[in-house]
Amino acid sequence: MKQYSTRVLYYHVIADQLPDLYPQGIGIRRFLYQLSVLKALGWRFASLSEALVSNHPKQLCITLDDGLAANYPILMQLNEMYGVKPTLFLIGKCVDNRALAWNHKLILLRRYVPRDLLNHQINLLIPGADHITLFSRVNMQDKDLIVDRLWSKLIPWSEHEYLEKNKPFFSVEQLKSLADKGIRLALHSHSHPDFSRLSKAETKAEIEQNIETLTSYKLPWENHFAYPYGRVGSNPESLAQEMKIDASFGTYYKAGNNLAGQAHWQRQCMELSARQNFREFVMMPGLRKFFR
Ligand SMILES: [Zn+2]
Repeated sequence: MKQYSTRVLYYHVIADQLPDLYPQGIGIRRFLYQLSVLKALGWRFASLSEALVSNHPKQLCITLDDGLAANYPILMQLNEMYGVKPTLFLIGKCVDNRALAWNHKLILLRRYVPRDLLNHQINLLIPGADHITLFSRVNMQDKDLIVDRLWSKLIPWSEHEYLEKNKPFFSVEQLKSLADKGIRLALHSHSHPDFSRLSKAETKAEIEQNIETLTSYKLPWENHFAYPYGRVGSNPESLAQEMKIDASFGTYYKAGNNLAGQAHWQRQCMELSARQNFREFVMMPGLRKFFR
């Protein structure tokens, strides 16, 4: 029997007011337009759990990363009005606005601190690094310490003050009401590290802590895991098996990926320009298959 490839799309923010934490999100009108085009092209929307075990020629799933509260209005009506049941991949430490992850702090540092000043301070902590290379230069073990030092030196309000004032992440109450509306919750690590640079023990601890947090809030999570930045360790299939994860997700889709029964799937970003989306969604998968 022919096996069909499911498409999994990902977003961070779908909202009319984009948060300073993620200004690259897309507006609600544009998102609904994407849905209508995909529907008109004959795609059927499925939840991840359904898609992982079914074999349908034109099936796609919608996912959102990081658990940003700006998505609340659209998500509350998505299932009822459009029959779409997206999965939210949640960062354990950020749920209920308990903390910012290091990547968020970096985004805010880049946004609010003059570039020269930021680069000067980064260079003092990691000689030769700047606001762009910090991501690849910092040890994953030191990532939180380094951005916390930068934050305390360069940002005039505390992390706690920022979280209290802006409430950028979903509260537990919001997540429960979303789950009641058919939205699925799943794993995106505890602290948003680059998994390609973690030891095996660190990898397991990140996922275990993520599970512990969601369980402690009594949230109905599903055992699907999206790698932060799509960066995977050496053997995602064996990790999925070891951690009893039904499927993990990277971010580099090509034709032929995502078959029912596979433990590691790939997603496609939908926050690009319309032209880039067309290239990624319609042209590139076919071309990649051709040149593979
Ligand atoms: Zn993420």
